[in-house]
Amino acid sequence: MLTDKVAVVTGASRGIGKEIARTLALQGAIVIVNFCGSAEKAEETVGEIETAGGRAEAVQCDVSDYKKAAEMMDYVVKKYQRVDILVNNAGITRDGLLMKMTEEDFDAVVNTNLKGAFHCIRHVARQMVKQRSGRIINISSVSGVLGNAGQVNYSASKAGIIGMTKSAARELASRGITVNAVAPGFIKTDMTEKLSDSVKEGVTAQIPLKTFGETKDVAYAVAFLASEEAGYITGQVLCVDGGMAM
Ligand code: NDP
Repeated sequence: MLTDKVAVVTGASRGIGKEIARTLALQGAIVIVNFCGSAEKAEETVGEIETAGGRAEAVQCDVSDYKKAAEMMDYVVKKYQRVDILVNNAGITRDGLLMKMTEEDFDAVVNTNLKGAFHCIRHVARQMVKQRSGRIINISSVSGVLGNAGQVNYSASKAGIIGMTKSAARELASRGITVNAVAPGFIKTDMTEKLSDSVKEGVTAQIPLKTFGETKDVAYAVAFLASEEAGYITGQVLCVDGGMAM
């Protein structure tokens, strides 16, 4: 159980982040439902959590903005006096083949997926060090582990997440803070809904379990890494991918 733990989940208005927020809240955590543009969906997430008896609050912040990420963390610390769990889930794709990829598409993806996670870790670390406890879980991807044609920007950001996770884990271990990554395979969300049917079929053929995952598959893995019971696990990458990256 995560009773009274304060958790920040970035990109929790939709998809995987929403399910992580719901799962942590149902285990007793007070969840900050971060969103960027989808205010209505974030409020829906909060409403669903509250209806189920949990506690949550929506907080707008574009995590790719260093100062805004600092403001969000300052707000949370001031209001709740602590942050126990940070889940860096916010992410975007701007797929395209390397030869045609624009600098703008490369930067946008790296700025949100990789720098966004850095900003949130950077601004939460002081509080967690002060507490001498904390759980940081970064959402990577099978694309960051294996690479994926058409995703040079995305794979770079997600492989970067893995390196950052391991370095941060080494730096923060002596302060009782664990840092791990979860690398989902193909999960049914808005992000994968936009793939063409032929791409979906091709991908499914490469998944040993022969199906896309559900958002709850990722959420359960995150909830475990956020728990007291996972206290001796740090610097790891847990693949939730139907066996793709084994
Ligand atoms: P969705 O596209 O369904 O949702 C993305 C979420 O990220 C939204 O809540 C969105 O908020 C938020 N977000 C985007 N940009 C920002 C930003 N700059 N600041 C704050 N929040 C932001 O994605 P998924 O649920 O599919 O993916 C979630 C994570 O899991 C991502 O990191 C993704 O890379 C990763 N992943 C997903 C896989 C999949 O198959 N779906 C596979 C592997 C990894 P808003 O709507 O408010 O803009």
